[in-house]
Amino acid sequence: MHLSMRLAARFPSLALTEAFDFSRHTTIGCGGRAEVAAMPSSPMQAAALLSFLKREKIAHCILGTGANVLPADGLFRGVVVRTCLMRTLRAEGSTLVADAGVTGGALLSFAARCSVGGFEPLSGIPMSVGGAVAMNAGVRDLYIGARVRSVLAFDGERLVLLDGAACGFSQKDSLFRREKIAVLRVWLEGRYSDAASIRIRACEYRRRRRCLPKGRSMGCAFVNPQGCSAGALIEGCGLKGARVGGAFVSREHANFIINDGGSAQDVAALAAFVRERVSAETGICLREEFCRLP
Ligand SMILES: Cc1cc2nc3c(=O)[nH]c(=O)nc-3n(C[C@H](O)[C@H](O)[C@H](O)COP(=O)(O)OP(=O)(O)OC[C@H]3O[C@@H](n4cnc5c(N)ncnc54)[C@H](O)[C@@H]3O)c2cc1C
Repeated sequence: MHLSMRLAARFPSLALTEAFDFSRHTTIGCGGRAEVAAMPSSPMQAAALLSFLKREKIAHCILGTGANVLPADGLFRGVVVRTCLMRTLRAEGSTLVADAGVTGGALLSFAARCSVGGFEPLSGIPMSVGGAVAMNAGVRDLYIGARVRSVLAFDGERLVLLDGAACGFSQKDSLFRREKIAVLRVWLEGRYSDAASIRIRACEYRRRRRCLPKGRSMGCAFVNPQGCSAGALIEGCGLKGARVGGAFVSREHANFIINDGGSAQDVAALAAFVRERVSAETGICLREEFCRLP
């Protein structure tokens, strides 16, 4: 039976898209198609779906807003589990409780409405809460892991409630990314502040981001090695403007790979070339920040 029919038979209320086009749902704008995308509307439905996919040995991957992924070219014979319909968001005092698909924009404006501050440095980062927690996203002033009180996750077998310390956050990394554990709901600890100053701070963080390169990218391509900047290393190797097919290293910020109509293969080949050159010239091995899908 066709995969989408199997899913529809097992989960009649589950939203499904056939021939899901990665290039239309990722900021890098390339990659092929997946046989089907499934969009659970709650953590419970997501857990039931993930459990079914595991039990039936159906290949699958999780996609948030697609701001930090490089999807492969060609056809993925499996299911993309999208979190975009898991959008429940509420406040419990100064703690925000957000389902995995809540976007950064929704989180920040809700926080301001509830006079809950402490998240402003995340303003303007393209993200879902689940993707941000998996990636420990943030900027120098705040990485989201520092605000995580607990996470409801599905570890492939069962639902688990992990406290912040158990999430294994490190630089642009977490237990969820390393072990491919699905983040379903997150409790984020804020602090009371007045709405006007929250908005002013958020606006200032958004303003600082205006200098980021335009064009389709995954944000920074490589994690900063201890004590130095990946962008400075890449620039130092003379790689600004280096190109493979439609992918090139931004001239504005050397740690951004921009896709101008290229394929995932172009982006991957350019990333590999940059890593090799930096390693050969500096002895430093850059780690990719973006995630390859599936
Ligand atoms: C222009 C631009 C600027 C950026 N600036 C920054 C920045 O300043 N700081 C920063 O940290 N990042 C930045 N990024 C990268 C990106 O915004 C973050 O990594 C963000 O957290 C990605 O969230 P997402 O929902 O898009 O995740 P996706 O890209 O959809 O997924 C990323 C990874 O997380 C996994 N994942 C997604 N959802 C879940 C879930 N619910 N449970 C488990 N795993 C999941 C995916 O499988 C994938 O491996 C930038 C990206 C762009 C395009």
